[in-house]
Amino acid sequence: METPRPYTYRLADGRYTVSIANRARVEEAIAAACRDLNIRSAAVSGIGAVDEATLRFYNPTTKRYVDRRFEEQMEIAALTGNVSEMDGEIYLHLHVTLGRADYTALAGHLLSARINGAGEIFITPFGAATPRRYDPETGLNIYDFR
Ligand code: FE
Repeated sequence: METPRPYTYRLADGRYTVSIANRARVEEAIAAACRDLNIRSAAVSGIGAVDEATLRFYNPTTKRYVDRRFEEQMEIAALTGNVSEMDGEIYLHLHVTLGRADYTALAGHLLSARINGAGEIFITPFGAATPRRYDPETGLNIYDFR
C-alpha cells in the first residue's frame, strides 16, 4: 500500500505553500516535498505547532553537536532555513524558535520535530544550485561557491 504524503501543497508565483500533516515530522515532510517537487535549492520558513522536538547546538571547540529533546506542546514561533545539495542528496539546514506554554522560547538547530496542530511552511526555490562541502576548519558542511 502506498503511504500517504505527509503534506499537501500549492504552488503560486514560483513559491510553494506546504501544509504538513498533523503528527508528521517537520524535517521528513520538508525533505519529502523537496524530493517530490524537485526542489534542490531554496529558502524555507514556517510557523505551526509541535509536541516534541530535538534541537542541537554546535560546539565549535569540540566540533560536536549536542542534542536535546523536548516533549511538550510548543509553538513554532519561527522556522527558518534552507535547502541545498551535498553529494547529490537533498540537504536541509533548519533553525527554529519554539514558544513554550509559559511564553519563554527555546531555539536552535532543528534536528527533528513532530507537528501537533498546524505546520505551515513556505518554500522559495532559487534559480541556481547551492552545493555544500565539508569544511575541516569549522567541522561544518558549508556552502561551496568556489
Ligand atoms: Fe545549523
